Amino acid sequence: MKHSIATRTLALSKPVFTVSLDFELLWGTRDRPYNEAFESLCAIEREKVFDRLLGLLAASRISATWAVVGKLFLQDGGRDPLLHAADLVERIRRCPVPQEIGSHTLTHAEMGKISRREAKAELEGWARLARLAGLEYQSIVFPRNCPGHADVVRESGFRCFRGQERTWYAARPRPLRRLGHLLDIVTARTPQTALPRLEDGLWNIPGSMLYTPAFGVRRFLPVWLRVLRANRGLDRAIGRREVFHLWFHPTDLTRRTDAMLDGLRRIFERAARLRDAGALDILPMRALLPPDLETPREEVVHDAAHR
Ligand SMILES: [Zn+2]
Repeated sequence: MKHSIATRTLALSKPVFTVSLDFELLWGTRDRPYNEAFESLCAIEREKVFDRLLGLLAASRISATWAVVGKLFLQDGGRDPLLHAADLVERIRRCPVPQEIGSHTLTHAEMGKISRREAKAELEGWARLARLAGLEYQSIVFPRNCPGHADVVRESGFRCFRGQERTWYAARPRPLRRLGHLLDIVTARTPQTALPRLEDGLWNIPGSMLYTPAFGVRRFLPVWLRVLRANRGLDRAIGRREVFHLWFHPTDLTRRTDAMLDGLRRIFERAARLRDAGALDILPMRALLPPDLETPREEVVHDAAHR
């Protein structure tokens, strides 16, 4: 197989806390029946969540990775503010603490479910808009964490992605997966941490924990349980010198907004204290990449099989 460079992992000089955000407004639910219900949430995201979230990141000096749906780069004269958001992308770029902007494809396409030609159009279309905006990019988050067409992804200039976290329930049917996820939160089960690993020529920086939205029955889960879980993830990353990768959508903060943002603040502030004490680094995804993909440095890269 062409790019089967085996699995290699990247050893880190320090544990790392990484935050990535899937920024999509209405694009994330366009193909779903509950799309209409999401409209009001996306309006809240725009008006009540976005700036406060950016402010929290800045206050703790955290550079996060914003995986942005390409169509959001457009403004379209203010029509469809839930499908276009050049103004918000500009605010991310003006954040006093630099934020990374990565891809979430052009229209929120599930890469593993489309043809090669469609995948090319999605990524080239995204890259064209990003270049027009003067952005450099290296990171991608696959919509619905559904990877595909690694060769096209590489050719479009990406070097890393957020992989699916490993869970004990991943292969179970959907109701069991939901239950498993709930159980993980209720018991504040320590999230997985990991090292970046090279897969099909792309660095996988696996997700560790979704900051679960307070939608539906999940609104009854107290926010402090999410905070406790995240703290356990940070501790585990420090103990193993690995990456604790927290992720969510800004839309996830549109229910119980004050409590959810306050939970994030507590996680960010603790991570910042650990960073300031020298215990870990807080880095966006692309800052985890080794200097050069083609010639991995032997001292930092080694076969996973030897671990
Ligand atoms: Zn998404």
